[in-house]
Amino acid sequence: MANPNEEIKYTQIFINNRFVNALSGKTFNTMNPVTGNSLVALAAGDVADVDLAVEAALQAFQYGSPWRNMDASERGLLLSRLADLVQRDLNTMASLESIDSGRPFRDSVRDVKHCISTLRYYAGWADKIHGSTVPTDGDLLTYTRQEPIGVVGQITSWDYPIAIQAWKLGPAVAAGCTVVMKPSSRTSLTALHLAALTAEVGFPNGVYNIVTGDGPTVGQAIAAHPYIKHVSFTGTKEYAKSVMEAAAVSNLKKVSLHLGVNSPVIVLKDANVDEAVQIATHNEYANHIFVQEDIYDDFVKRAVEAAQARIVGSPFEKGVRQGPQINENIFKRVLNYIAVAQKQGAKLECGGNRVGDCGYFVETTVFSNVTDEMKQAMDEVYGPVQSIIKFRTLDEVVKTVNHSWHGLAAGLVTHNIDHALYLSRRLEAGTVWVNTWNTVAPQAPFGGYKRSGHGRTLGYEGIGQYLETKTVSIMEPSTPSHYCNGIAGA
Ligand code: NAD
Repeated sequence: MANPNEEIKYTQIFINNRFVNALSGKTFNTMNPVTGNSLVALAAGDVADVDLAVEAALQAFQYGSPWRNMDASERGLLLSRLADLVQRDLNTMASLESIDSGRPFRDSVRDVKHCISTLRYYAGWADKIHGSTVPTDGDLLTYTRQEPIGVVGQITSWDYPIAIQAWKLGPAVAAGCTVVMKPSSRTSLTALHLAALTAEVGFPNGVYNIVTGDGPTVGQAIAAHPYIKHVSFTGTKEYAKSVMEAAAVSNLKKVSLHLGVNSPVIVLKDANVDEAVQIATHNEYANHIFVQEDIYDDFVKRAVEAAQARIVGSPFEKGVRQGPQINENIFKRVLNYIAVAQKQGAKLECGGNRVGDCGYFVETTVFSNVTDEMKQAMDEVYGPVQSIIKFRTLDEVVKTVNHSWHGLAAGLVTHNIDHALYLSRRLEAGTVWVNTWNTVAPQAPFGGYKRSGHGRTLGYEGIGQYLETKTVSIMEPSTPSHYCNGIAGA
């Protein structure tokens, strides 16, 4: 059951399985996007708090610690039991997510369920991560070990917070790493709840730590920490650059980046228009839709009908499909995009205004006659604004879409298998969805081409980033004459 008044129990930093104040005693307020008022005060971590969290994670990673002595199968069991606790707290966590982010409750429920399935998926991997034997020349026995890289830093964005936390926690813990995590300062509540569950389920002290606070302080301290071996960052490319710089200057730590999305949906003329509109608007509202000219007018008409039927409001109201923007900055940015689009000659078909006079609600907005030179066709809008762009041929749409700096994903709507294969091979995107949209599965790698990032999360590739490969070569003792030759050739 949705609970708009869900109690916010956890507001502090989480280190060594305990909630503690920031060393400075400082706090910051998170905002309620529905009202624009302050929601709750959270501990404002600083560099010293990150140092403490890293120290705890380092201790937990020492040889001989309960974590390092634990069987891999036991790690899997912990993840599986963590998933059980998230299932138990499903309504609490989904309510917290909606209160914090303004996401409609049914979408929050879907995200928490995605968190559960991701944890279960990685629970299964924990005791299946193994190296191989290698047929080296001579009498060497050579094998590889897949070892956890050590303490990892994880920084997440304000959107899909609980899902993305699981994308990072699951593989890192399955691999045997220890973690210092920073949730977005705009949406930290479910992250802290999940941390409490890691303690309840029996994660040893220091394995999973969370430092709340702002990006330039806490995020930067994680990226720059000399004892963190890998930092996994989800957010904008602007801050990704600071993370990469800090990672390079501090200790050349590995970096994986999960960045901006302005993924297109491409609707071919053979598509059923109603089905295509449903795919592009039903769950996640697609921003950039390329429609083949033969069905363009029909598509625009029905996309407008779908937009006007979309109920905008508080995440707990019945039937609501679209909540507020996360904060005032993003709200203003979306309205600015709408103003610029009109100036550049796009045709406003519906929406375009603020909804109500409090909080950060924007009407569901549809533009037609958008050309690919226009600002909102090229940039990430991050709001409920749809730009519908006409194209004629498959090669033309490939060229336009690939011209973008981004390449996280692309959607295709067509029942022509030849066209689906032709386009999916040529599009520069980490994922191509055909006749579906935004269906991210724990089992399948997910990540971007070009400026949408590097590295993959989810699937087995999601674990790979948290592992080091060690090669062990042993000269077999029964053939002592090979000792010198073998080693000299190494
Ligand atoms: P953001 O870059 O503003 O913040 C992301 C995180 O980085 C936050 O935790 C923030 O506090 C922290 N941060 C800010 N400055 C930092 C610094 N100097 N050093 C280290 N950390 C710092 O992004 P956002 O607005 O929270 O998230 C939206 C963005 O995330 C969008 O661009 C969206 O496309 C992207 N995103 C990508 C994926 C993906 O899988 N590729 C998924 C979700 C969101």
